[in-house]
Amino acid sequence: MIPASFTYRRAGSADEALDLAAEHGDDAKFLAGGHSLLPLMKLRLAAPEVLIDLAGLRDLSYVSDRGDHVAIGALTRHHDVEHSDLLIREIPLLAHAAGEVGDPQIRHRGTIGGSVAHGDPASDLPGVLLALDATFVARGSDGSREIPASEFFESLFETALRPGELLTEIRVPKPSATGWSFQKFTQRAIDWAIVGVAVQGGNVALINMGATPLRATGVEQALASGASPADAAAHAAEGTTAPADIRASTAYREHLARILTRRALIEAQLSLTTRYFPPPPITPRVE
Ligand SMILES: Cc1cc2nc3c(=O)[nH]c(=O)nc-3n(C[C@H](O)[C@H](O)[C@H](O)COP(=O)(O)OP(=O)(O)OC[C@H]3O[C@@H](n4cnc5c(N)ncnc54)[C@H](O)[C@@H]3O)c2cc1C
Repeated sequence: MIPASFTYRRAGSADEALDLAAEHGDDAKFLAGGHSLLPLMKLRLAAPEVLIDLAGLRDLSYVSDRGDHVAIGALTRHHDVEHSDLLIREIPLLAHAAGEVGDPQIRHRGTIGGSVAHGDPASDLPGVLLALDATFVARGSDGSREIPASEFFESLFETALRPGELLTEIRVPKPSATGWSFQKFTQRAIDWAIVGVAVQGGNVALINMGATPLRATGVEQALASGASPADAAAHAAEGTTAPADIRASTAYREHLARILTRRALIEAQLSLTTRYFPPPPITPRVE
């Protein structure tokens, strides 16, 4: 559980971080909250020679109203997303889901940008941001570009970020359809989702049902055709490639996807009655 030796460099600005990344190339990795990268390094599944610490980039920690969307700096910690008055008011799905990540210690260190850049299909916020039609802003040596969430997650732990590119901002449109729900099925509260479902209006995203977070297009099409939550949710596992592991078989995950989607769609309808309706925790139950 001891990582291979590495050189530690602390960036004072985004420019400095990009310069250091260009200088060290494939040998370097950015370090944000460290709550995904450091465990991998301890297991020797990652062995960067240089760590570029982003903790000094305080100007990339913000939640800001930009009219039709909310902009969130990549270095914003999960705790600050969870407790942002702006997000609670305008995009409660995201604030609520951030409060479901790990435990308080993890939420005080982990960052939204780190979670997105890591590209773990079991993580909560990538799936939620996919349901919210977010856009990610990446900055490289040749300037900034915008990447829609639908094009960002390419495969297991692979994203559209190019080597040395820094994720700087997440832009989330203020939803026009306000019904939302986040369902996360875990064995222990701290765990990653065995399966998760995020619903915003007619958008439905699945967590841990494939190599990337997925939009449940079969469910979305059924909803658009006027199907009931129960009938639409029956399509939840279509087109998925759920993993099998020590916690669940593929078939069990497919079952959970259908059950959780049905609950999420019903809860999203109920949440229309109030702007912020934190759902109660789900008692694990199989139907
Ligand atoms: C015990 C435990 C339980 C957890 N439970 C959950 C959970 O229930 N749900 C969940 O979603 N997550 C969970 N996590 C993960 C947690 O949310 C992490 O904080 C998050 O996944 C990564 O964010 P980070 O800031 O720590 O990133 P880091 O670990 O610092 O970085 C992760 C990767 O992203 C890259 N990176 C980071 N920031 C940038 C950037 N701005 N631009 C480009 N690349 C960047 C790094 O180089 C690295 O490859 C858990 C972690 C632990 C240790």
